[in-house]
Amino acid sequence: MTGPSRPTVLIVEDDPATRRAVRSGLEGHGYAVVDAADGEDALRAWEFGRPDLVLLDLGLPGVTGLDVIRRLRRDGVTPILILSARDQERDKVEALDLGADDYVTKPFGMAELQSRVRALLRRSAGPAADNQGVVRVADLELDVAHHEVRVAGEPVSLTPREFELLRVLVTHPGSLVTKGRILRAVWGAAYAEESHYVHVYISQIRRKLAEADPHGTLRTLIVAEPGIGYRIQNPKDLSKS
Ligand code: CA
Repeated sequence: MTGPSRPTVLIVEDDPATRRAVRSGLEGHGYAVVDAADGEDALRAWEFGRPDLVLLDLGLPGVTGLDVIRRLRRDGVTPILILSARDQERDKVEALDLGADDYVTKPFGMAELQSRVRALLRRSAGPAADNQGVVRVADLELDVAHHEVRVAGEPVSLTPREFELLRVLVTHPGSLVTKGRILRAVWGAAYAEESHYVHVYISQIRRKLAEADPHGTLRTLIVAEPGIGYRIQNPKDLSKS
């Protein structure tokens, strides 16, 4: 049995050696671990136990990793971290497009895996909007109810699309949000291929935030993952950089 404060991680991996190694690494750091060797097992384990995070290998026999994500995203927001092989670049991007939160590429080190797991578990614990509808990341305040952005208390003028783009990122802190997901959320499905829009709007947002941020505390807030998308750096990591 696991105590209430111990996060449960579901490992979905058909390779027994990798499964064992990941299990012992996570258990050694205080996580409760459930594992599954294929997609069907994974869905059963998820239905039964609702883990706090899912570590998902994409190359599975039977029900594929992508199918598992589709199923989990139908009615859940549980963070999903992809374990991807080097030859699964396309699947990886599709997995992120479907709503997976991040990935590590095999072979990965346990330290890297732990840090991704920690970031995603912190994410799921917040920062939700407070009861006034305001989301805060370091000096940035996003007032969702009033469509206002403030840096250190001072208003920043963003266009409605810039605001929406920033909102999509800020409400998924720690997650890698693909350009496809941003385009669908901000411009609509018909624009899903127009990735240059995202690049241009991100530049504008960065410039406006930088102008309002004389001490540079938000300098590394929006991190680019080349060719894939963007993530908001967790405030805890932000304060260290
Ligand atoms: Ca595999």
